[in-house]
Amino acid sequence: MALLDIGIIAVGLRLLRDPIFCGGKFDYCTDLSGYNVPLGIVVIMYGAYALTADMLPNHKESLLLCPKCESTFRHSQTPDGKCPSCKVDVEPLEGFYKRHPEKKGEKQKL
Ligand SMILES: [Zn+2]
Repeated sequence: MALLDIGIIAVGLRLLRDPIFCGGKFDYCTDLSGYNVPLGIVVIMYGAYALTADMLPNHKESLLLCPKCESTFRHSQTPDGKCPSCKVDVEPLEGFYKRHPEKKGEKQKL
Protein backbone atom coordinates (compact mmCIF):
# COMPACT_ATOMS: atom_id res chain seq x y z
CA MET A 1 0.00 0.00 0.00
CA ALA A 2 2.63 2.51 -1.08
CA LEU A 3 0.00 5.11 -2.02
CA LEU A 4 -1.44 5.10 1.49
CA ASP A 5 2.06 5.48 2.95
CA ILE A 6 2.76 8.46 0.69
CA GLY A 7 -0.57 9.92 1.86
CA ILE A 8 0.52 9.55 5.49
CA ILE A 9 3.79 11.37 4.71
CA ALA A 10 1.83 14.11 2.93
CA VAL A 11 -0.37 14.58 6.02
CA GLY A 12 2.77 14.83 8.17
CA LEU A 13 4.29 17.45 5.88
CA ARG A 14 1.05 19.41 5.94
CA LEU A 15 1.06 19.29 9.74
CA LEU A 16 4.54 20.82 9.77
CA ARG A 17 3.66 23.52 7.25
CA ASP A 18 0.19 24.47 8.44
CA PRO A 19 -1.01 23.26 11.84
CA ILE A 20 -4.59 24.48 11.40
CA PHE A 21 -6.96 21.92 9.94
CA CYS A 22 -10.41 22.99 8.85
CA GLY A 23 -12.95 20.26 8.26
CA GLY A 24 -14.84 20.16 5.00
CA LYS A 25 -18.12 18.77 6.29
CA PHE A 26 -18.24 20.72 9.55
CA ASP A 27 -17.46 24.36 9.99
CA TYR A 28 -14.79 23.52 12.51
CA CYS A 29 -11.05 24.14 12.75
CA THR A 30 -8.44 22.28 14.76
CA ASP A 31 -5.40 24.30 15.75
CA LEU A 32 -2.49 21.97 16.41
CA SER A 33 0.15 24.72 16.63
CA GLY A 34 1.43 23.46 19.96
CA TYR A 35 2.01 19.91 18.76
CA ASN A 36 2.36 20.13 15.00
CA VAL A 37 6.16 19.70 14.87
CA PRO A 38 6.50 16.55 17.05
CA LEU A 39 3.22 15.19 15.66
CA GLY A 40 4.26 15.91 12.07
CA ILE A 41 7.66 14.26 12.58
CA VAL A 42 6.06 11.16 14.11
CA VAL A 43 3.53 10.92 11.26
CA ILE A 44 6.26 11.35 8.60
CA MET A 45 8.48 8.77 10.30
CA TYR A 46 5.60 6.32 10.48
CA GLY A 47 4.81 6.89 6.80
CA ALA A 48 8.47 6.50 5.83
CA TYR A 49 8.75 3.31 7.87
CA ALA A 50 5.61 1.83 6.29
CA LEU A 51 6.79 2.86 2.83
CA THR A 52 10.21 1.28 3.39
CA ALA A 53 8.59 -1.93 4.61
CA ASP A 54 6.46 -2.02 1.45
CA MET A 55 9.36 -1.26 -0.87
CA LEU A 56 11.83 -3.80 0.50
CA PRO A 57 12.24 -6.67 -1.97
CA ASN A 58 12.52 -9.28 0.78
CA HIS A 59 9.29 -8.07 2.38
CA LYS A 60 7.42 -11.19 1.23
CA GLU A 61 10.12 -13.61 2.35
CA SER A 62 9.61 -12.60 5.96
CA LEU A 63 6.08 -14.03 5.86
CA LEU A 64 5.36 -17.50 7.16
CA LEU A 65 2.50 -19.76 6.18
CA CYS A 66 0.71 -22.47 8.13
CA PRO A 67 0.55 -25.64 5.99
CA LYS A 68 -2.70 -26.68 7.68
CA CYS A 69 -4.95 -23.61 7.68
CA GLU A 70 -2.84 -21.63 5.16
CA SER A 71 -2.87 -18.48 7.30
CA THR A 72 0.10 -16.15 6.88
CA PHE A 73 2.09 -14.81 9.80
CA ARG A 74 5.03 -12.53 10.43
CA HIS A 75 7.97 -13.89 12.41
CA SER A 76 6.93 -11.74 15.37
CA GLN A 77 3.48 -13.38 15.41
CA THR A 78 4.89 -16.90 15.75
CA PRO A 79 7.71 -16.67 18.30
CA ASP A 80 7.80 -20.47 18.63
CA GLY A 81 7.55 -21.03 14.86
CA LYS A 82 4.13 -22.67 15.18
CA CYS A 83 0.67 -21.68 13.96
CA PRO A 84 -1.22 -20.25 17.00
CA SER A 85 -4.43 -22.10 16.05
CA CYS A 86 -3.14 -25.40 14.58
CA LYS A 87 0.06 -25.77 16.66
CA VAL A 88 1.95 -27.06 13.62
CA ASP A 89 5.27 -25.73 12.32
CA VAL A 90 4.84 -22.81 9.94
CA GLU A 91 6.87 -22.63 6.71
CA PRO A 92 8.27 -19.67 4.75
CA LEU A 93 5.69 -18.36 2.28
CA GLU A 94 8.36 -18.11 -0.40
CA GLY A 95 8.18 -21.29 -2.47
CA PHE A 96 5.45 -22.85 -0.32
CA TYR A 97 3.26 -23.78 -3.30
CA LYS A 98 6.29 -25.21 -5.11
CA ARG A 99 6.90 -27.53 -2.17
CA HIS A 100 3.19 -28.28 -1.79
CA PRO A 101 1.65 -28.19 -5.28
CA GLU A 102 -1.39 -30.08 -3.98
CA LYS A 103 -2.26 -27.08 -1.76
CA LYS A 104 -2.37 -24.80 -4.77
CA GLY A 105 -4.90 -27.11 -6.45
CA GLU A 106 -7.07 -27.21 -3.34
CA LYS A 107 -7.21 -23.46 -3.11
CA GLN A 108 -8.09 -23.01 -6.78
CA LYS A 109 -11.03 -25.40 -6.47
CA LEU A 110 -12.55 -23.34 -3.65
ZN1 LIG B 1 -2.80 -23.02 11.10
